[in-house]
Amino acid sequence: MFHVKHFDVVIIGGGHAGAEAAAASARAGAKTALITLRVAGVGVMSCNPAIGGLGKGHLVREIDALDGIMGRAADEAGIQFRLLNRRKGPAVQGPRAQADRALYRDAIQSLLSKEVNLTLIEGEVADLILDSGRVSGVVLADGAKIGCKAAVLTAGTFLNGIIHIGPEKRSGGRIGDAASNRLSARLIDLGLARGRLKTGTPPRLDGRTINWDVVGSQPGDEEPVVFSFLNSQPKVRQIACGITHTNEKTHEIVRQNLTKSAMYGGHIEGVGPRYCPSIEDKIVRFADKTSHQVFLEPEGLNDHTVYPNGISSSLPESVQHEYVRSIVGLENAKILQPAYAIEYDYFDPRSLGPTLEVADFPGLYFAGQINGTTGYEEAAAQGLVAGLNAAKASHGEEPVFFHRSDSYIGVMLDDLLSHGVTEPYRMFTSRAEYRLHLRADNADQRLTPIGLRMGCVREDRRQAFEEKMIKIETGREALRSTSFSPNELLRFGIHVSNDGVRRNGLDVLGGLNLEDSQLSEVLPVLDQMDSAIRKQIAYDAVYSRYLDRQDMQVAQLKREEATRISDDFDYSALSGLSNELKGKLQRNRPPTLAQAARIEGMTPSALALILASLRKQGMGRIAS
Ligand code: FAD
Repeated sequence: MFHVKHFDVVIIGGGHAGAEAAAASARAGAKTALITLRVAGVGVMSCNPAIGGLGKGHLVREIDALDGIMGRAADEAGIQFRLLNRRKGPAVQGPRAQADRALYRDAIQSLLSKEVNLTLIEGEVADLILDSGRVSGVVLADGAKIGCKAAVLTAGTFLNGIIHIGPEKRSGGRIGDAASNRLSARLIDLGLARGRLKTGTPPRLDGRTINWDVVGSQPGDEEPVVFSFLNSQPKVRQIACGITHTNEKTHEIVRQNLTKSAMYGGHIEGVGPRYCPSIEDKIVRFADKTSHQVFLEPEGLNDHTVYPNGISSSLPESVQHEYVRSIVGLENAKILQPAYAIEYDYFDPRSLGPTLEVADFPGLYFAGQINGTTGYEEAAAQGLVAGLNAAKASHGEEPVFFHRSDSYIGVMLDDLLSHGVTEPYRMFTSRAEYRLHLRADNADQRLTPIGLRMGCVREDRRQAFEEKMIKIETGREALRSTSFSPNELLRFGIHVSNDGVRRNGLDVLGGLNLEDSQLSEVLPVLDQMDSAIRKQIAYDAVYSRYLDRQDMQVAQLKREEATRISDDFDYSALSGLSNELKGKLQRNRPPTLAQAARIEGMTPSALALILASLRKQGMGRIAS
């Protein structure tokens, strides 16, 4: 009765992982189908209308460097760009954009529509067809069968999704969408290890009912930093967001009603994202705080909906009205959609290989929230890896890998595959031991050449990248050809050690923290470069000095892996170690540094702290 269609690769789900997987697979030349519950919902942002942030912005830049679509879509839709950590060094700066929700979805759909190898199909995938454990197709809920050589499952929060609003609960993948239960049952039948996680979203407010005159205003950056290496400025009108605060009355309302919260009333078994706490979590965990910031983020240029960032909840709707209206500026705010929490199945990522292929089922790949991560960017980055590898496998080509030393993508994969998750995983710059090298500004230099070799970077990007690199190399050469003795530098008021060594322009640029005006005086050649190229050369020059030191630290940690840690080692005395890590170390008591390294959330700098303290106490011993 039903036609059996056949594709090289089938992507299941059109969220952030699915869209990026479909684009990558099609770019790599595979005949690809994206099957999703609602085609009109492809690229929808389930929660906050924003892309990027600390660590996450790095992932978006890396996706872009590999010619993915998230960065370009965010630039099309960005209505407020802010570079987070602007005052800190470029290694930890995170580009972030507030997005017009509708423009973002439209941009993703438009970018996908240009992929000639891609077909979009609306439907629910209810089953997988396996031949001797190898994926050979999928079955839709209406019984239609679609054949494939590889399938990428990106079902997000939909697997056995349960939506909670106070004591009410109902099945759903996100508000307005049905859950995907049959597929989850099938995966459990296959023997894959399942867990439950949860996340939540705040109520949406009608911006016309907010008193904007009494709340603070947060404009975007004067010089916006966009995501894509192919763009230089925002595409649409920029707006300011509002800022208000919760107060003691808000907290009292939440406290009085805690038992009615799905989370605190014991209705939810899943673990939530620690770094994105609900208002209930904030009031319980930070009981001494009398106020929390709430960002009022417009959801679009032609949309009155406002996303109040910071007050997600699973309290009943009536309590949400009460606490919202206790906040300055929101006294008359109308709730357009209540806050809710969602619980869903994820599958233990330790059953995956480095291409995100399920170890026991060749041809089946998992990407996104299904692997225990949270966030659009984490999902999209995994989608790219899985989509690209599925395409490669379908053509019988060698897989492609990402490593901790080349990308945050590699850091995330390694973290997931080696540690698994006990709470939703999100990216932070502190997770990377090579973070001086893995910067957002140099993601194209790190990854576009790799992407070209992998076959996922198109001609227009290759050309743009090569033109940029020629300009950078020409600029570096011009700087290398200048030369200054210590005395010559002194004439510009620049003090260096009087060692008789001549320094070239790159040394001067990288070694000294000079003001822009001073740089122009010493190195007038810089004024002949365009400002983006000049900035990039300066960043690269500054960081090249630290990279050797970083490499040494990483190598030392590797050498010291066998160092023993005594059972009574006092982690609480280590200032600089987060309370979260202190707690985990005290509970787990790892016997060696190598075992400490395997604790979820452990960072290289935390390990270096432990090692330094062991050394100081003369306790470091090599395990026999
Ligand atoms: P999704 O974006 O969920 O996409 C899944 C896709 O799969 C959908 O298109 C769906 O239609 C499709 N699908 C599912 N099952 C099937 C099937 N059987 N057949 C065909 N198609 C199917 N992230 C944060 O970083 N911070 C937050 O505060 C946050 N809060 C959230 C709150 C809520 C209520 C929700 C729902 C999500 C929240 N998220 C948050 C998570 C964020 O939405 C996800 O991390 C991100 O969307 C995951 O992308 P994904 O592609 O894995 O899944």
